[in-house]
Amino acid sequence: MIPRIVDIINQNATFLITSHERPDGDALGSELALYHMLSAGGKTAVVYNQDQTPHHYRFLPGADVIVHKLPPTETFDAAFILDCSELERVGREAGRIRKIRQIVNIDHHVSNGGFCDAALLDAGASSTGELIYRLAEAMALTLTPEMATNLYAALLTDTGGFCYGNTSRDCLVIAGRLVENGARPQWISENLYENAPLVKIRLLAVVLESLALDLNGKVGSMIVTLENLARTGALQEHTDGFVDLPRTIEGVEISILFSELEENHFKLSLRSKGRFDVERVARKLGGGGHVNAAGCRIRGDIATVKRLALAQIEAID
Ligand code: 5GP
Ligand code: MN
Repeated sequence: MIPRIVDIINQNATFLITSHERPDGDALGSELALYHMLSAGGKTAVVYNQDQTPHHYRFLPGADVIVHKLPPTETFDAAFILDCSELERVGREAGRIRKIRQIVNIDHHVSNGGFCDAALLDAGASSTGELIYRLAEAMALTLTPEMATNLYAALLTDTGGFCYGNTSRDCLVIAGRLVENGARPQWISENLYENAPLVKIRLLAVVLESLALDLNGKVGSMIVTLENLARTGALQEHTDGFVDLPRTIEGVEISILFSELEENHFKLSLRSKGRFDVERVARKLGGGGHVNAAGCRIRGDIATVKRLALAQIEAID
């Protein structure tokens, strides 16, 4: 499928690049690497995301070009939809984006059913960034430090800092190549993980009070309420990484972060150790993701939402 995508790039001039709402490191790193790749080939590329770029990703080279208002879709010859298992994951503008003449999907979610003809899908890839790297190889491009930095950030964040089960040999070999091409691991990690505003840690202190263990200590969870955010002056984006905390506890196999989006509406982030498949849990609840990292949204009060999630975990176990 890669040669077909290379043909689409060669035969067209103007591209939209987009990804899912609430973009993460893989979404942003993949988008910006592809932006630099297309620009290097003399193409015009626009990166559109529905949501703002979280503060800790703004160091990514090119992050300032991202727009949050979709230009008229007639201006694009083709659209790249990255890190999305369904087109709807791009958010409110999915309907307009669907009308773009050529749609290319590059993704690594197991739940991807294939929503367009031209697609590079590999559930065995650590990240969408890994697939963009393969595309760059097929384009016989020399990776610049800007491309390498974005791709390294994509691989690093989607493997939870090279920790999750998707930290494959290929992923680490590619990470090494990216370093050869100018990615600086220490600088990238400092920007991603050691540059938090103080309000994030103040929020964590409050959220930690909600830490609970269920199902005989197998499930660890925390809750972020809108009141917690208001009280500390923190934003939703500051909850990034909180879900990793409960699973650092001995005996915990599954970690859940319940984030209140609005009254009676929660986003769930699920993480697991070992082989427990949280994607199956998330899918049953209307979401998706990967074996060790998945997510979904559920309506209801927190007690109901938590009961539903625990019931699904028990059913799968
Ligand atoms: P996170 O918890 O970091 O938001 O998401 C973890 C993984 O689950 C990501 O790969 C993300 O794409 C996926 N994911 C999160 N929320 C949803 C959702 O509402 N629907 C689907 N299909 N996937 C989700
Ligand atoms: Mn991803």
